[in-house]
Amino acid sequence: MSDFYKKILDNNKQWVENQLSIDPEYFKDLSRGQTPPLLWIGCSDSRVPANEIIGAKPGEVFVHRNIANMVVHSDMNMLSVLDYAVNVLKVKHIIVCGHYGCGGIKAAMENNSIGIIDNWIRHIKDVYRFHNIELDAIEDEGNRFNKFVELNVREQVLDLAKTSIVQSAWKNAQDLTVHGWVYGLNSGYVTDLNLNFNSNEDLDDVYQLYFK
Ligand SMILES: [Zn+2]
Repeated sequence: MSDFYKKILDNNKQWVENQLSIDPEYFKDLSRGQTPPLLWIGCSDSRVPANEIIGAKPGEVFVHRNIANMVVHSDMNMLSVLDYAVNVLKVKHIIVCGHYGCGGIKAAMENNSIGIIDNWIRHIKDVYRFHNIELDAIEDEGNRFNKFVELNVREQVLDLAKTSIVQSAWKNAQDLTVHGWVYGLNSGYVTDLNLNFNSNEDLDDVYQLYFK
């Protein structure tokens, strides 16, 4: 067994003991159920751990992560998480959190084939195509990369707002706001892009759903 593998098992034992020393009922209470106020859709990147960044405890954040924090409207995994979070857990906030220095976004700016992931990255390339005039006008590659990260978050927030799940919740006057953030790997701080959608009226007409 590698030292790392052994260490993480030991860490778990230590963590349990620590939690129980603070509150002997800790795990008993958590096992009763969850009512997290937040759904987090973030990148799989190991440096962007949802709970740690926002100081959330177990039970406070429902999490979905994939490469480049994408909301792909035919992704059953994402849709299932979203449906459960909105319709069963009744979360009040959904945060799409991208991050500067994202490898998925970088790959989408380049042309190298990496493997099957190319097909996932293609969704990110679509975002570039939507905004290619604005992005191509940025000469500095670093600045263009950062802007692409931000525009991708904005696009995923809009994609969330376009889903039948979110629009249906708004139609039923459910308290639900969708936010877009970008996390700075260098600083640890998040930037709130102040998108804050809570109605489908901001969507292009063609995406607005009318419910019977
Ligand atoms: Zn990433």
